[in-house]
Amino acid sequence: MPTAIYPGTFDPITFGHIDIARRASKIFTRVIAVIAENPKKNPTFSVKERVAMAQESLKNFKNISVMPYKGLIANCIQECKASAIIRGLRAISDFEYEFQMAFTNRKMSARAETVFLMPNEKYTYLNSTMVKEIARLGGDVSNFVPEYVERKMRKKLKASGA
Ligand code: ADP
Repeated sequence: MPTAIYPGTFDPITFGHIDIARRASKIFTRVIAVIAENPKKNPTFSVKERVAMAQESLKNFKNISVMPYKGLIANCIQECKASAIIRGLRAISDFEYEFQMAFTNRKMSARAETVFLMPNEKYTYLNSTMVKEIARLGGDVSNFVPEYVERKMRKKLKASGA
């Protein structure tokens, strides 16, 4: 029963992330979206908020679950008894970083095979930072994130006075 983990910051989850998770759910029996704490990235949303947004956005996929994780991906894959790490590749610019991560994870855990999936081309330019910036400037983000996430973003931006 192959399980895959799909780790990321998901700050917040976008249609690009959802597209990758959906593709993975067709290949693997079980997919776990792993929300990394990632304090180094200084996320806008807390882990709890990111988990809630991911759960809501992925609730229609019966074989996808969501969990927060603090430690190393190499340990997470062991704990989840998963056989693959899913990552999305948008463009060549993603490659250098992803290549390093994939080899590092495999060095740390022999079972950590990384599987790269490409999103629908309409999401190749999409990233969470850009969506937050558009929302901050008052733009319409309904093409980029689910309605629930859009509402949470507006609330957050209001609270931060941005
Ligand atoms: P990280 O901090 O681990 O890069 P992200 O949440 O930014 O976390 O991304 C998690 C994964 O989802 C990465 O593999 C990233 O390439 C992928 N991803 C993010 N946005 C998109 C998108 N629009 N299309 C395809 N993959 C994406």
